[in-house]
Amino acid sequence: MPHDGHDDFTDPPSDIALRVKALESLLTEKGLVDPAALDAIIDTYETRVGPHCGAKVVARAWTDADFRLRLLEDGSAAIAEMGFVGRQGEHMVVVENTPDVHNLVVCTLCSCYPWPVLGLPPVWYKSAPYRSRAVSDPRGVLEEFGTTLDANVEVRVWDSTSEMRYLVLPMQPEGTEGFSARKLEPLISRNSMIGVEKVLPPGNTR
Ligand code: FE
Repeated sequence: MPHDGHDDFTDPPSDIALRVKALESLLTEKGLVDPAALDAIIDTYETRVGPHCGAKVVARAWTDADFRLRLLEDGSAAIAEMGFVGRQGEHMVVVENTPDVHNLVVCTLCSCYPWPVLGLPPVWYKSAPYRSRAVSDPRGVLEEFGTTLDANVEVRVWDSTSEMRYLVLPMQPEGTEGFSARKLEPLISRNSMIGVEKVLPPGNTR
């Protein structure tokens, strides 16, 4: 049954929510976790860390040629330079889209994802169809996201692991040359940094 959040007063919590609650209570009772620390972690990944962090990295790469080189050479170090560090972001590799190459990121095994720059992964990223089809039919997946590539563009699919997380450096859209990093940031979507979409020029909507 779909659950849209408007019927919280009539529906009991889901099975998974109840199980999580039970586990948390038990761990707290036994002194194994501190509820305040749990809240801080959840708050961090729900509000503080997210794709706006990755957008800052991309916008800087577009406007600062030296940073772009450092980013492509050693993603972890360049991203840490901007203060984005933390779990699931220790070994970052940045792959650059060009007129000839389009990069797409997946985790075929589970849901490895660069948390410090993109936050928590979207549900579709963790889904079995995405995880298999990103490899078997990447162009079909891209089409479903409204991304059409010319036949001569090579698609490279990167399989994330717990050792290696990927961030796509999308192409800067036409008409934004000379824009400041701050003006570019809002254009850069989460999906463009996973590689399922391109960054569109300002004023374009999907
Ligand atoms: Fe994984």
